[in-house]
Amino acid sequence: MSPNPSPNSSNSLDAFAAEKLAGLEAAALRRRLAVTARGPGATAERGGRGLISFSCNDYLGLAHDPRVIAAATEALARYGAGAGASRLVTGNAPPLAALEERLARHKGKDAALVFGSGYLANLGIAPALVGAGDLILIDELGHSCLFAGAKMSGAQVVRFAHNDLAQLRAGLAAHRGGTRRALILTERVFSMDGDRAPLPEILALAAEYDAWTLVDDAHGLGVVEPGLRAPLEMGTLSKTLGSYGGYLCASQAVIDLLTSRARSLVYTTGLPPASAAAALEALAIVEAEPERAARPLALARRFTARLGLPEAESPIVPVLVGAAEAALALSAALEARGFLVVAIRPPTVAPGTARLRVAFSAAHDEAQVDALAEALAELAPQTVRAA
Ligand SMILES: *Cc1c(COP(=O)(O)O)cnc(C)c1O
Repeated sequence: MSPNPSPNSSNSLDAFAAEKLAGLEAAALRRRLAVTARGPGATAERGGRGLISFSCNDYLGLAHDPRVIAAATEALARYGAGAGASRLVTGNAPPLAALEERLARHKGKDAALVFGSGYLANLGIAPALVGAGDLILIDELGHSCLFAGAKMSGAQVVRFAHNDLAQLRAGLAAHRGGTRRALILTERVFSMDGDRAPLPEILALAAEYDAWTLVDDAHGLGVVEPGLRAPLEMGTLSKTLGSYGGYLCASQAVIDLLTSRARSLVYTTGLPPASAAAALEALAIVEAEPERAARPLALARRFTARLGLPEAESPIVPVLVGAAEAALALSAALEARGFLVVAIRPPTVAPGTARLRVAFSAAHDEAQVDALAEALAELAPQTVRAA
């Protein structure tokens, strides 16, 4: 008897997948991977064509910085390609410890803990701090991994409308009394809208109701003025720092607890040492070169001014289109002109709010920004208007 059934035999698994896919295709929500080689200076090559990318979160162009590459190369040669085990076993290479010290100092915190990614950090943090009988309040536009961590915690999860302080207060007033602990989850810069949370007001409400606040700083670190820091500051090494990995900065007690209790730290292999070494060098550059860190926001504001859009609050500018098909078509038209600007569709964003998400980098120059603005004004005059 053959160990494998005929590869052509229809089965319920493939039928399920095909039917689901057909539904996604019909709604213009199917996603595809496209091999894209990123190069230095916000360049990318796809299908043999050179493009200028406005889709990367590498806001300072540090992924290709020779100093960052050199630091990673040296760590790679010295410590090898992988960590070899969980950080608690033998996977805690020296670059991870050095990076944690530097991250904590950068954020003005006692300590930091590096995770395998930002997603893994958020899967680990909330469940280690709250559980059944506790309360989580989360901004409705929070990142998918904030919701995933909240759900895994087992706490009661209450959403509040985006940046809506009255709803946050109402949620605390209605539910806080009956719960032991409460955690508020929000972002410093929202990933798909580019706007910022009103942190002073949120932290004041948290103090009033004895709730803890976790701020996801994935898109803020190094590119927007941080303002007030929350007790729990998490983020990623994969955006401004140009590498890969995630982190939490907090008090020593919290970091010590998470080191023992965050399942996405304990039961997973440590970050490759070269990734930590790259992020450490990138963080040193962020601190040493403030004029570079100011560029992405300045370019974003140049772009919003030229198109008459609301002034950018971060390097992320959403160009709202509406229908998923229309967002895909506009993205394709821009690609034909040499610009890589990916369409963002549901469920990443709410139905009817498909958009282009334009991300600016210190690696762009003014002429590239102006050329993109011009192309958009021409291709989608009903969506954006030239100033
Ligand atoms: C990208 C992102 C993450 C996840 O970080 P990774 O390191 O890419 O896993 C978490 N939160 C927000 C807001 C993000 O944009």
